Amino acid sequence: MRETMSIDICEITPAHIRAIFPYAPGKPISELERELGIQNIVKLASNENPLGPSPKALKAAQDALIDIARYPDGNGFELKAALSDRYGVSMDSIVLGNGSNDLLEIAARAFLEPGLSAVFSQHAFAVYSLAVQAAGAKGIEAPAKNWGHDLEGMFSMLEDETRMVFIANPNNPTGTFIGKEALHAFLNSLPSSILVVLDEAYNEYLPSGYDMGSIAWLSEFPNLIITRTFSKAYGLAGLRTGFAVAHPAVADMMNRVRQPFNVNSIAQSAAIAALSDIAFLERSHELNLSGMEQIVEGLEGLDLEYIPSYGNFLSFHVGPAQGIYQKLLRLGVIVRPIAGYAMPEHLRVSIGLESENEKFLKALERAIGETA
Ligand SMILES: *Cc1c(COP(=O)(O)O)cnc(C)c1O
Repeated sequence: MRETMSIDICEITPAHIRAIFPYAPGKPISELERELGIQNIVKLASNENPLGPSPKALKAAQDALIDIARYPDGNGFELKAALSDRYGVSMDSIVLGNGSNDLLEIAARAFLEPGLSAVFSQHAFAVYSLAVQAAGAKGIEAPAKNWGHDLEGMFSMLEDETRMVFIANPNNPTGTFIGKEALHAFLNSLPSSILVVLDEAYNEYLPSGYDMGSIAWLSEFPNLIITRTFSKAYGLAGLRTGFAVAHPAVADMMNRVRQPFNVNSIAQSAAIAALSDIAFLERSHELNLSGMEQIVEGLEGLDLEYIPSYGNFLSFHVGPAQGIYQKLLRLGVIVRPIAGYAMPEHLRVSIGLESENEKFLKALERAIGETA
């Protein structure tokens, strides 16, 4: 019999890969069902659209199934044409991604390498640090201010080797928002040799008047990369589609490191249909506003502090967050612990349907009561 082979994984793995601490996703409903043998679970853990996808997008996805023996259009012509139309940008300034997560990684792979660094904020979306590490570059974390980005602080931490800055607006998991003037001034202050990845995953949830029209800034700032997603307000998280808009020369470099077929054909078709369903987007926006009010009221009723949020989620302070999280699971409610974001006393809840929010608030009240 052949001897069992062993492997010295440290020996064969680069140090910057070994240092990566993997992303911790929200617990899937099916996993909790398996673990506890319970049904009717409410998942408010991944900022998904509680309305599901637009019916038009669903129909387009179903219609696209017939062609799955074919490779998708690797250039995503039709989706890019629809995006170009919608946002008034040229098709060569668009990069499609397998979720916007993919685009964050593509940006890091295209422009970073060992010896270079990227700056992001404390409590900012975890993927920035992961993407930077995977590219072998150095991540520089700037302390947050009131849970949000401290742009001056971030500026002061730039080094000669810094080639990229990540900004989430609104940020996840804190829900904080940077206003138009401050962000524009920050972009103005940077040399064009530093790329700014502006992650606007929650753009469609902004209250009216808050959208800063960042895409129009691309003519002013050739170093700006804006990422958007179909995962949140558009309700297509499972299909994995996002897009970046940037100067054509920047987009060109990103397209060089992109996998040739990174966005599948079903996702491309569904995204085109989703883009056109403005009424669905408006419904989603309204539901989020009323759900946010409902949850804020509920948390205030429980005397819990929360961080005011501009997204479709809210982070609140509970003290023993891990214990409360576990109790909520047993009550059939999945929220998101954010200890990995250096927020060990907070939990993040996504805004759901009215009935889901209610179930969450009831369960939270009970969990806190049992803990006290
Ligand atoms: C959810 C999220 C994303 C990415 O989601 P995708 O599904 O990969 O598009 C990106 N940035 C932030 C801040 C997010 O919260």
